[in-house]
Amino acid sequence: MSRAAAGRSPLTAVSVSRRQLLAFGWFPFFRPKHISLAGARFRIVRNGSPKRHYLLIHGDEETARQVLTRFMETHEGTAFLIETHTRNVGIDKGEIDPNRMFSRAGAEASLKMLNAEWTAQQMQIALTLLDRGRERLVSALLPPRKGLLVALHNNSEEYSVNDEIPISDSVSLREPANPHAFFLCTDPGDFAMLAKSPYNVVLQQKKPEGDDGSLSRLAAHRGVRYVNLEVRQGNADRQLEMLRWLDWNLPGGTGVRE
Ligand SMILES: [Zn+2]
Repeated sequence: MSRAAAGRSPLTAVSVSRRQLLAFGWFPFFRPKHISLAGARFRIVRNGSPKRHYLLIHGDEETARQVLTRFMETHEGTAFLIETHTRNVGIDKGEIDPNRMFSRAGAEASLKMLNAEWTAQQMQIALTLLDRGRERLVSALLPPRKGLLVALHNNSEEYSVNDEIPISDSVSLREPANPHAFFLCTDPGDFAMLAKSPYNVVLQQKKPEGDDGSLSRLAAHRGVRYVNLEVRQGNADRQLEMLRWLDWNLPGGTGVRE
C-alpha cells in the first residue's frame, strides 16, 4: 500500500457517484434485483452495457413483456419489468397508474380518478409516500449520461399515433395505415434517425407545460433521450422488429445483429 493510500480509509478509495448512492444504497457493489415504489415493483435484468435502459411499466401489456424478456437474452442493457399483471398498481388501499407517479401533480390526478372515495387525509398519505420514494426510482430507471431509455407499450383501439400528432414537434408517418405502431421520442437526433425507418415516429422535445406524471414528460424535462415504442397488444413480431431496428440504428447501441 502506498503512503498516500495508507492514510485513507478504504471507503474513500471507492468512487461512488450520487446516482449510485441514490439508486443502490450505501453499498456500491450490491446490485439489487428489484426496485419499487408503492405497489410498483420492477424486476431488474442486467446484461452487459448499462448505456441502454428498457422499461415495461404497464403490467397488463403482456406482448411488450414477452418481447422485452426475449430481447434481453441476446442484447446488452438493463431492463426493468414491472411484476404486477394489471395496468394500475396498489397504493395504501387504493390504486394508481404507475406511469403517472413521476410527478406529484400527475400522481394526484391519477389517485383522484381511481380512488374517488378517498378522504383528503388518505390522499396526503399516498402523495407523501410517493414524494419520499420517487427520486430513488427515477435515478434507477434513467440511463447514464447520453444513454437511452426505451419504454415498451401496447395499445388497443383507443390510442394511436394520431393522438400524439397535435402535440408533437415533428412527425414522420411512413405507415399511416398502421397508426398503432409508432415511436415517440424526445431527442431530435434520435428522431432524425427514426424518421429514416419504415415506421411512424413523432418527436416531443419541448418541455411540456402541463405535467401528467408520465416518465416521458420527466425525461423531456431533464433532457434525457427517451423513446416510447408502441404497438397493438398481441403484435409481438412487429414490436421485436421495431426494437431491433432501434437498437441497431440509434447511437450508443451494442449493434447486435441476429
Ligand atoms: Zn402502457
